[in-house]
Amino acid sequence: MKIAVFPGDGIGPEVIAETVRVLEAMRLPGLVLLGGDVGAIAYQRHGHPLPPETLTTAREADAILFGAVGDPSCDGLERHLRPEQAVLGLRAELGLFANLRPATTFEGMEDASALRPEIARAIDLLIVRELNGDVYFGDKGQRTTEDGRREGWDMMSYAEDEVRRIARIGFEAARGRNKRLTSVDKANVLETSQLWRDVVTEVAGEYPDVTLDHLYVDNAAMQLVRAPGQFDTIVTGNLFGDILSDQASMCVGSIGLLPSASLGERKTAGGTFGLYEPIHGSAPDIAGQGKANPLAAILSAAMMLRHSFGAEDPAQKIEAAVARALADGIRGADLGGTASTAEISDAVIARL
Ligand code: ATP
Ligand code: MG
Repeated sequence: MKIAVFPGDGIGPEVIAETVRVLEAMRLPGLVLLGGDVGAIAYQRHGHPLPPETLTTAREADAILFGAVGDPSCDGLERHLRPEQAVLGLRAELGLFANLRPATTFEGMEDASALRPEIARAIDLLIVRELNGDVYFGDKGQRTTEDGRREGWDMMSYAEDEVRRIARIGFEAARGRNKRLTSVDKANVLETSQLWRDVVTEVAGEYPDVTLDHLYVDNAAMQLVRAPGQFDTIVTGNLFGDILSDQASMCVGSIGLLPSASLGERKTAGGTFGLYEPIHGSAPDIAGQGKANPLAAILSAAMMLRHSFGAEDPAQKIEAAVARALADGIRGADLGGTASTAEISDAVIARL
């Protein structure tokens, strides 16, 4: 189990240190941790947010455990030197095209949700977001027209093989859950979405055991708040996935609870190479105070064990210990409690 550990900035090193303690407490056979600098710390030490040696380490590993990047000291830097470029660069260089974001309400955590408790309680969904295409990577620019008006454009496009590979990830994920997949698009308006819908429908033929339905993104946004319990697995493009996954996170509650995985095509001995990170950022406002909730990072490590190492039992063991700690009332400041970063992970370790 070769894991590249990139803590990054702000609370990144705090939550990753606790996650490493949990992994070590699991006594996983053959665990090897490789270190590396990313983000503002890497810029300070090496003059670049994603130094070549970090990229080399990433390629040597079977998985990356990533903290968070970003520091106010870097705000004035040119775009390519900003800390955020580290994670964008890793995704691009390593071909990580599938972003998995589970959103599940833990027992007793309904109060943290922006929704009514009885609605929040029913949330157990997974968003599969395409990460390498869409309007983010198309031709874009600004110009001034002959009559002096400024004009901006961003080209939205998907090729059928790009849709096919993310659709398969969506169907596989649904197959491992409750066998229901909702594909989200805007096929009534966008050609990109019509292609998306056609290809997802075609791929559905390979997965007769999974029920597929299609939803327009505006309706999906509404349903996510009205009755999120209806969703099992959602597959969608880069832009819609960006928006819906942030929305889903607030339906569950604290940003300090939600993990993510970014996967590519490269296979490892036990699964797929991937990058695993909490959905939250570096939170400079609380860095160095022992207030960060490490559970999102710890749950990201569970996803790593599952997807990159095929270690389903240890993954479930971590998830169960987190659920038990929360059910026992262990709460960080983000959930209105007083438990410190280390106390939260102690509570998880004690329940493994
Ligand atoms: P990014 O652009 O990197 O996503 P952001 O601007 O979205 O960053 P975050 O760093 O995620 O912001 O922080 C948003 C708010 O949530 C902050 O007030 C921060 O203190 C809080 N927060 C983020 N992560 C945690 C955590 N693990 N535990 C407790 N509070 C957190
Ligand atoms: Mg953010």
